[in-house]
Parts: sequence; C-alpha cells; structure tokens
Amino acid sequence: MSEALEPSRLHALGAAAALMPWPLPREPDEAVCQQAARVIDALLVRVARGRGAIDVAIGEALDELTVGDRKSRLGYSNIGDYAREVLGIAASTAYKMGRLARKLRERPLLRAAVRAGEVSIRAAEAVLPKALGEEEAKWVELARIGTVRGLKAAAKKGPGALDENATDDEKWGPIRARVSPEQRALADEAMEVARKLVGAAESRWKLLEALCDEYVGGHAPPDFLGGPDELVAARREELDGLKEWLEQESEQWAFLDEPDAVAAPVLSDDDVTDIARLDEGLRRLAKLRERWDEVFGHLALLLRSADGPRRLGFASFQHYTTERLGMAVRSVEQRIALERDLYELPKLREAMRAGRVSYEKARLIAREADQGSVEALIQRAEKVPCIDLRRELEDKEQAQLCARGEFEVWAPYRISGLVAFAFGAARKAAGRWIRTGECLARIAAHFLEVWKPVVERRGTPSRRILERDRGLCRVPGCSRAADHAHHIRFRSAGGSDDPSNQISLCAALHLHGVHMGWIRVTGTAPDGLSWELGIAAPRREGRAMAAGREG
Ligand SMILES: [Zn+2]
Repeated sequence: MSEALEPSRLHALGAAAALMPWPLPREPDEAVCQQAARVIDALLVRVARGRGAIDVAIGEALDELTVGDRKSRLGYSNIGDYAREVLGIAASTAYKMGRLARKLRERPLLRAAVRAGEVSIRAAEAVLPKALGEEEAKWVELARIGTVRGLKAAAKKGPGALDENATDDEKWGPIRARVSPEQRALADEAMEVARKLVGAAESRWKLLEALCDEYVGGHAPPDFLGGPDELVAARREELDGLKEWLEQESEQWAFLDEPDAVAAPVLSDDDVTDIARLDEGLRRLAKLRERWDEVFGHLALLLRSADGPRRLGFASFQHYTTERLGMAVRSVEQRIALERDLYELPKLREAMRAGRVSYEKARLIAREADQGSVEALIQRAEKVPCIDLRRELEDKEQAQLCARGEFEVWAPYRISGLVAFAFGAARKAAGRWIRTGECLARIAAHFLEVWKPVVERRGTPSRRILERDRGLCRVPGCSRAADHAHHIRFRSAGGSDDPSNQISLCAALHLHGVHMGWIRVTGTAPDGLSWELGIAAPRREGRAMAAGREG
C-alpha cells in the first residue's frame, strides 16, 4: 500500500480534524474565518486525495469482477448489486468507478497519471473522449495542469467532442402534485400498469416518464408553457464566466496549500485472478475507504458550513468540489447530508463504526429515522439486504405521502420538463386551467385506457408467482426484475408446482447463479427460504445440464 494511505497518516489527519468540532463557533472576524477555511481546506484536500486513490483501486477491482462468470460466482448478477450489498457503496457509484477503470485500460498514459494521483478523477473524465492514440500524451499533460472547467471547454472543440451525458452532476428533485384519494388511486393504478411494462425493478420516475410520454404522444402540445417551476425549483445557472475569471485571478488558487499526490493502492495479479481473493481485496479496500470517508464527511461539513468555497475564491460549492477535490458535487453533498444526520443520531454513527450497518444502509436509515425509531431501523437493516431495506422504506414513505394527499416522485430535473409539458397538454385538452392533481389523473386515465387491456392479456403460467413476489427477483441483494419462476426443489427430484415450491428469479441469476451451483436455495416460498450465495460448489456438468432445462 502507498505510504500516504498508511493508518498512521489517516490517524494524524483525523486527529487534526477532530480539533475542530461541529458546529463551528460563531466568529465575527473575517480574517479568522478566512484562516479557518484554509486550515479545513488543507486537511480536506488531503483526505479527498487519499479517498480518491482508494476509489481508483476499487474501480479497477470492480472492473475485474465483470470478467467472465466472476460476479455470478459471488452470487450477484451485476457489480452494482455486489457493491451495494457487500461493500456498502451505492450501485451508481460502483458503475461509474468500474466504467472509468475500463476506459482507462485503453488509455495507458492517462491511467498511469490517475493511478499516481497526478490527475483527478474529474479531470480524467473531462479528457477521456480526446485522450486516445497519438493525442493521449498531449491531453494527459493538459489534465495535469488544467482546471476541469478549462479541460471540458477544450475537449468540446474538434472531433470526438465531450459527451455531455457523461456528467454525473445532474440535479434531482421531487415532482409533486396535490391529489384527492380518487386521483391518487388512479395514479397508483397507472403506475402499477407502467411497472409491468417498463420493468418491476425500475424507479418510480421512469414509470411517471412512461405515463407522460404516452400522454404527450397522444395529445396536442400546450400553447403556453410556464416552465417546470410549478413543480420544482428552477435549476441554478452555472457561472462559467465567473469560474474562468476566478481561476485566472487566483492563478488556479495558487495561494492554497498543494499537498503531494496520493498513488492508488495496488492489487497483485494473484489477487485479481483468484475470485475469492478479489472479493477479499475489495472488502479490504471498502473498509479502508470507510475509515477515510469518516474523516472526509466531518471536514466537508465543516468547510461547507464555514462558507469555505466562497471564502477561498470559488464560484460555488460545485466549483470547489470539482476543481479542488476532483469529485462530483452530488456525492459530496450526500455525504454532508449524512454527516448532519449522524450528529442528530449518534446511535447510527455508533452502528456504522461497529460495522452493524454499511454506508448505504446508514444513508437510508438517516432519511427516515428519529431518536425514537433509529435502533429499530438499525436492527431491521442488520437482517435484510440493502435493496430490501430501501424498498421497505420507500413503501412506508409512499403510504405517508398518500395519507397526506400528496403524490411525489423523486426525479432528475430533465424529467420535470416533460412532466410540465404533459400537464400543459392536459390543461389544453381540458380547455381550462386545472390543478396538478387533476392533470395527473387525466394522464393516468389515458395511460390506463391504452395499456391496461394489453397488460391484462399478457398472462403467463407463472404470473401468480411473479405477482406474489411483486415481479422482483428474490435472490437476496438482487435489484433486478424477475424473468422466471424457479422450482426450488426441481420437478425431476419430485418437486411440485405448488407456489410454495416456486420463487421468482431474474434470468441472469437463474441461469448463471442457481443452475451453475453458485447460489443455493432451500425451504418454502416466500418466507421460509434459506439462501447460500457464492458457495462456489464444484459444478457437475450432468446436474447443471439437466437442471438447466427446468423452470
Ligand atoms: Zn436476480
């Protein structure tokens, strides 16, 4: 492991960070505030580099996990599920880490610079489209010295322009409507029909998108569109000109302390090729990441509450996280939100430290818990996979919204534009201004009219099983929709067609997990099952072949 990631170093950084408690005392003297911001920044940027180096190593190891049948052998159909359940890292974060590692494989110079900590992850992402072949060396040099803003602007020019969709800074927010019980029932029914069409495991915003798409496709567009402000707060303007001026004026913040680069820890070839050791290596890296993350969370909260980014000459918090920390603003904001909650819920922090709940589970619990309910939620989290905990809490949240007469879907901002458009079309069709609840009800009714008969005709023999399991794969930790009903005790071994002998599985884990012997399930469905994941039993050709023909 690189020296900069030794426990003694983290310990020293943590001890320095602990000297500054939260909340910071009120300080009227601007010079003192400036000084405090610089001290916090100096620590934070060091911790961010250590954490970033660990992320690079985790990304590479996750990418190794996608090779061949490795993930199925651990009992997972994709690295997102594995990362969430085993490492406590969000699935979307894991995909991003793995995707970057894969792209860096074709860019050896850029990869070396990222591994050495000389180019941040954000800067690497900005030059990815350009840093290929003969051009690579030039872009790696630019990435070493340039700002992310400058790199993005430069990468936009010429062939192989930057893929704007590659950004993960997209903002999310709630889309809301006030609904009567009848309107709510209609919307819920349409969302359930959409779930059957779009996929049982899809998020609610995708279902709402399907409803609105269908409505917009079948109705005249609105004459006047007030914009999505009615539904969500307006998106803040990104201040590119100001950012450029600030970076020039400060000579890229040359007055700030510039710590040494931190190299990513290395997994040996043996660690990478042996599946059990790869799994163990990833768990080890994730534990290390958690320890760095704890110090990171505290410092990031301090810096933000001290108005650090502005005091240090950045245009916004996003500007600071991108240029100074080399990180996406959303992940830093999420971390700060959790840190605030952890001060309210010391029991949750204890549970995280004791390894009772992972970061991802803690994030779910923090959103829901108060002092009174936190222990029960921690106990529940210890018993179920993270994905189940998320679904349970979402159901509870929906029930509460329903009781308050509210319909709410958490969605990326771009969806709010589509929803506003569909609401406008509904008002035009009504010939008058109608409330959001009625707009939603009309959109839902239209969707049901078109799709309900289609869904009802689509019966399958195993529909009863899939409906019992809510259309979801029941392998613990799997986030996919179910494709098949599986006989727990094979029919050839005397297993019956009774629902208690059948369980819903996604195709990936059914074929590559269960029938290959990496996942074992026994007992009675749905509640009396026992699962063994990643048992790596030696595969017996004959049995797997015979079983493969069964459902
Ligand atoms: Zn599955």
